[in-house]
Amino acid sequence: MFIDTHTHLFAEKFDEDRIEMVERAIEAGVEKMFLPNVDVSTISKMNELEKTFPENCFSMIGLHPCHVFHDYKENLSIIQKELETRKYAGIGETGLDYYWDTTYKNEQQASLHQHAEWAKQYHLPIILHTRESFDDSYAIMKEHNNENLTGVFHCFSGSVEEMEKVAGLEGFYIGIGGVVTFKKSHLPDVIENTPLEMIVLETDSPYLAPSPNRGKRNESSYLPLVAQKIAEIKGISIDQVAEITTKNALNLYSSAFSEA
Ligand SMILES: [Zn+2]
Repeated sequence: MFIDTHTHLFAEKFDEDRIEMVERAIEAGVEKMFLPNVDVSTISKMNELEKTFPENCFSMIGLHPCHVFHDYKENLSIIQKELETRKYAGIGETGLDYYWDTTYKNEQQASLHQHAEWAKQYHLPIILHTRESFDDSYAIMKEHNNENLTGVFHCFSGSVEEMEKVAGLEGFYIGIGGVVTFKKSHLPDVIENTPLEMIVLETDSPYLAPSPNRGKRNESSYLPLVAQKIAEIKGISIDQVAEITTKNALNLYSSAFSEA
């Protein structure tokens, strides 16, 4: 069994064939899929999908850094209400994105701090998007780090040194997806040096489809292509990659499967 730890299955790109697409993933052995929220407009669609597949799809709640604007506080208070109303599997996605736009850099950081507080308060993992912002994201996690804070640096694209910094944070993982299969990716080098115990698999659907589907719409049924590549890099079987990364994901998202 595989777990897709980061997949936006509620995205508009799946409006035509969402149910079939999720069924294809389950058939491919991707039995559990974790849905990172984007902004307040995506919450209901995400939760609807979770209702349709209660054994397979798990909603998470947060405000994506690319959707943090001047009005972010109002959006955070809507998310706060969601957290008070029902159980979610994780806090995210949040993080910092300095690649697209740095206009709201301070607001992004304030939002990330709030998400870290929630993660600790609700004992939920934090899902981090870090684009050209590793140092700041890492510093904020280090500041909040205690035994209640766990999480994942999703779509990890850092260096071996940065991976080692993440390894120093107790309870943190790196999320690896389609980028590792791209021809010029530096990630194979990083993965060679990363213990498999630190890696969770993700697609980040509908983006970043793994080779040979690069450029197409990504979907969770492509996850085994990522696992296959990691198996090649590590010189082990895909079954071993599935077993360890699934165990890691269950550990990361353990609160989703507990009764409380
Ligand atoms: Zn995402």
